[in-house]
Amino acid sequence: MTLAAARHWVFDMDGTLTIAVHDFPAIKRALDIPPEDDILHHLAALPADEAAAKRAWLLEHERELAYAASPAPGALELLHELRDRGCRLGVLTRNAHELALVTLQAVGMGDCFASEDILGRDEAPPKPDPGGLLHLADKWQVAPQTLVMVGDYRFDLECAKAAGARGVLVNLPDNLWPELTELHARDCLELRRMLGG
Ligand SMILES: [Mg+2]
Repeated sequence: MTLAAARHWVFDMDGTLTIAVHDFPAIKRALDIPPEDDILHHLAALPADEAAAKRAWLLEHERELAYAASPAPGALELLHELRDRGCRLGVLTRNAHELALVTLQAVGMGDCFASEDILGRDEAPPKPDPGGLLHLADKWQVAPQTLVMVGDYRFDLECAKAAGARGVLVNLPDNLWPELTELHARDCLELRRMLGG
C-alpha cells in the first residue's frame, strides 16, 4: 500500500506538529539528571518522593512551554488534508496528556484529534517502546503494519519499527536514520505534497 493510501496516522507532537522548544540539557541540569540519561527512565528509577517532586517540576516547566508552542510548517494543513480524506489521527507523545491537549489547542490543532487518541506518558510506555502504537492499532482495530508514525526523532522511528508500523521522518534537513525510515520529508508541507495533497 502506498503511504498516500494509508488511513491511520499517528504523530509525535513536540518538534513534529509543533516547533521544538524543549531544552533537554537544561531540564536535565535543573533536575540533576546525568546528560546521558533518559529523563523519563531516570525519574522512574528514583525513590517515590524524589520522583514525584521532579515530575511536578517537569509538568510545571512543560506547561509554560505548552502555552508558548507554535505550529510546525505545514503541520496544520497536513492534518486537515488527512482528516478530509477520512483518516484516523492520533498522537503519541512523551509529554503529558493534559499538556498535549493545551499545546494542540494553542497551535490550532485542538479539533484534529479525539482526546482518547492522544496518548501521553501516563497512557503509554515512552517511545521507543511500541506499546502506544500497538494500543492505538488495537483500539482502531487495524493491523499495526497499516499505521504510519510521523516523527522528528530516532525514538519515533524505532517505535514504528518495533510495532511493525511505517516510519516517516520530518523536520530534519537530512535523514539520519534511513534504516528506520520509509519516507523522509523536510517538513509537513513537503510530506503533504508527497502524498498528493
Ligand atoms: Mg519530537
